Amino acid sequence: MEKIFNNTQVAFSLKSDTELDRAYFLFKLIDSEPLVRIGTAVTNFAIKAHLPVEGLIRATVFDRFCGGISEVDCLPVVDKMFTKGVSSVLDYSVEGKEDEEHFDDAMNMTLKIIDFAKEKKALPFAVFKPTGFGRFELYQKIGERVAFTPQEQAEWDRVVVRFDRVCKAAYDKDIALLIDGEESWMQDAADDLVEEMMIKYNKQKPIIFNTLQMYRWDRMDYLRKLHQRAKADGFYIGMKLVRGAYMEKENNRAAEKGYKSPICESKEATDRNYDAAVLYMMEHLNTMAIFAGTHNEDSSYQLMDMMQQKGIDKTDSRIWFGQLYGMSDNISFNLAANGYNVAKYLPFGPVRDVMPYLIRRAEENTSVAGQTSRELTLIKTERKRRKGK
Ligand SMILES: Cc1cc2nc3c(=O)[nH]c(=O)nc-3n(C[C@H](O)[C@H](O)[C@H](O)COP(=O)(O)OP(=O)(O)OC[C@H]3O[C@@H](n4cnc5c(N)ncnc54)[C@H](O)[C@@H]3O)c2cc1C
Repeated sequence: MEKIFNNTQVAFSLKSDTELDRAYFLFKLIDSEPLVRIGTAVTNFAIKAHLPVEGLIRATVFDRFCGGISEVDCLPVVDKMFTKGVSSVLDYSVEGKEDEEHFDDAMNMTLKIIDFAKEKKALPFAVFKPTGFGRFELYQKIGERVAFTPQEQAEWDRVVVRFDRVCKAAYDKDIALLIDGEESWMQDAADDLVEEMMIKYNKQKPIIFNTLQMYRWDRMDYLRKLHQRAKADGFYIGMKLVRGAYMEKENNRAAEKGYKSPICESKEATDRNYDAAVLYMMEHLNTMAIFAGTHNEDSSYQLMDMMQQKGIDKTDSRIWFGQLYGMSDNISFNLAANGYNVAKYLPFGPVRDVMPYLIRRAEENTSVAGQTSRELTLIKTERKRRKGK
């Protein structure tokens, strides 16, 4: 496969020189792990103490990784990216709110985005997080087979109703719906619920997508079993394939509580597991659809290769590539320029409420994770190219 992701002219075609300089500065800052750790601690403190740091956050990380405070703020970004063939997934990224009012808000926002998506070709998917619709502890209790109190049962029933309402809306409006994956100790209950939704709404085609976090060594087994059940019950499987964003938390909890970590033994093992899942789904594409959520160039090339080998059209609606806004534009924009389906998650929400999301991104971009040096090299190359013109 031709190495298309090195084309920085295409990658940064929407970025002005000033925007490139700003991105360079930001990635330089978050390249330092100690700085990210200190920055995270100071920001968390400042937010809890109600210090006026929102302006500073907006000017630095927020505007780089988010589309705005509201869904409407995001629309100019959505339209701009779509001029280059890159679609968006509007992602209401408020996290860690644990009351009924916020759960209803998140559901209503998802319903609204499904309506938006119906009207806008640039929005092929909607998305939500299971813990956006219900308390983490409820999911955890189900996973650990701890009995609910009557009050908790009533609360859980409302979570199920929220899931069903958005999945039904997605089905009625024919908009694919991605459901994010979270920590392993709440994920079993979410998986069961999403499977129920697939049974109900994926009878004709994959509309409801769950997420497989392939840093978990048990996920191939899960996928194969789900496939058996899908064959028996006659439903399609939609899956977002990611590596997984909670590795440190998973390893720490396992060590603390003394159980075997659910995370693969090495990065290479995760990579192999990811590729195995892509291969498995590609081999059963007659009943499956893939959303490959990754910034890994090798994984993306591999999927492109497989499509070519199998003679699958680049615009086949069963295969989408996905990246996060503010990251790996070299992958997204070059995929789109070459005719593939690609969408970027575009997070939005009030500045202080999207902090957990932003902190995950900053951590993922430290020099330890290795993503930043790639971003910096690409920006440097593009700056040089522009100066040389
Ligand atoms: C569109 C999109 C949607 C996403 N949705 C979700 C979601 O719903 N849930 C979620 O959890 N994450 C989600 N993510 C984040 C994703 O899981 C990864 O954290 C992120 O994309 C980095 O992985 P990568 O494949 O891009 O690339 P890479 O940089 O190649 O891989 C980094 C990843 O490899 C794994 N890894 C790193 N070191 C080790 C090690 N020592 N041992 C084992 N594994 C290791 C970790 O998962 C790490 O994040 C999403 C990402 C995208 C782009």
